[in-house]
Amino acid sequence: MMMRIAIAGGGLGGLTLARILHRHGIDTVVYEREADRSARAQGGMLDLHPESGQQALADAGLTARFRSEARPEGEEHRILDPAGRVLVHHRPQPGSFSGRPEIDRGALRDLLLDSLPRDAVAWQRRLVAATPRPGGGFGLTFDGGHSADCDVLIGADGARSVARSLLTDAPLSPVATAVELSISDAERRHPDLAELVGPGNLWCIGVRRILSAQRLSDGGIRVGISLPADDRWDSYRSKRALLDGLDGWDPALTALIEAGDGPPIPRLIEVMPTGTRWDHRPGITLIGDAAHLMPPVGEGANQAMLDAAELAAAFAADPTDPDQAIRAYEEAMFTRIHPIAEMCARVQAMMLSPTAAQDIVRFFTPRPAEPAPVD
Ligand SMILES: Cc1cc2nc3c(=O)[nH]c(=O)nc-3n(C[C@H](O)[C@H](O)[C@H](O)COP(=O)(O)OP(=O)(O)OC[C@H]3O[C@@H](n4cnc5c(N)ncnc54)[C@H](O)[C@@H]3O)c2cc1C
Repeated sequence: MMMRIAIAGGGLGGLTLARILHRHGIDTVVYEREADRSARAQGGMLDLHPESGQQALADAGLTARFRSEARPEGEEHRILDPAGRVLVHHRPQPGSFSGRPEIDRGALRDLLLDSLPRDAVAWQRRLVAATPRPGGGFGLTFDGGHSADCDVLIGADGARSVARSLLTDAPLSPVATAVELSISDAERRHPDLAELVGPGNLWCIGVRRILSAQRLSDGGIRVGISLPADDRWDSYRSKRALLDGLDGWDPALTALIEAGDGPPIPRLIEVMPTGTRWDHRPGITLIGDAAHLMPPVGEGANQAMLDAAELAAAFAADPTDPDQAIRAYEEAMFTRIHPIAEMCARVQAMMLSPTAAQDIVRFFTPRPAEPAPVD
């Protein structure tokens, strides 16, 4: 009998896993808490790296559609100081997919959903508990009283994973406050702001504050403000509070906040300890943010998709021995993630430090080539 694989969470990791397994003839059910695919706006852009996110899409057979939706020009970025002076302006090679092209999160999720059979995702199924069954596998309980059984459970249920508690009690700790606003139809309504942001990303770096803005493919702009994590994070629900926090900044920059469609939405950004791992337990594992949570340098989605590709490859190599596949996946994943999580922690600390501007400019400035050794 085919093993029944349940994937908790239909985000980028869970859907990539379902898609690649489907290509190998292994069907799964993705249990997703949202009511349907359009229940929630999916957020801004992601840059997909060749060795992780793009590799996973290649394994999923979706490179062509990715290229038709992605925006290589979105790689352009500008770094400014609070007075509006340009510190860095990076322009990518026109039309090149060799770097890290950007794609709207919503477009990427749609691309994955469209590649799956209609009944592959069970919507409105928020996992609340997974109970080990005496013969192996898990009984799953969902909000609202639904239940299901599975032989293998993959926790792809994001930062606040329910499945994670079956494997580790690693705590989450706050590292920053991120506040978000959206400016719809910016090209038409706010051409000056569209010009300021350019086709990609803008970062304005102050002391323990970063104002960022990202151009979306629908002509809108997504604005973010990163601040230190503190117990007042919930107070940034008004534009006034944010503007007070950026006192003295060039009004041309803070206009990005004034132009926001609605009130700002603050949230706490959390991490798991670097080096988090767990002892193997039969019939269950984690991918993506459920397994490793490491803002802020654009690795989370990329690594979630690579987790999915590697786990799918391990299952496909021997579908009769899922536990061997899980063991092989987990060892390789822990080894891969550890240095990335260390780098993310360093960058996170750098971003909100008093010397962030100099440090980030150094980070983005290519070093001159080493002189060739003289024989
Ligand atoms: C502001 C911001 C910007 C970011 N920018 C980037 C970037 O540029 N590049 C990058 O690589 N990463 C970025 N990340 C990180 C990235 O978003 C995550 O690492 C990535 O989405 C992880 O994918 P995932 O599938 O593991 O989890 P998610 O994308 O969070 O998906 C989890 C899914 O599980 C569902 N779910 C949750 N709980 C349950 C439950 N109990 N039962 C059923 N379903 C459940 C959710 O509804 C969701 O659909 C960013 C994160 C933030 C917050």
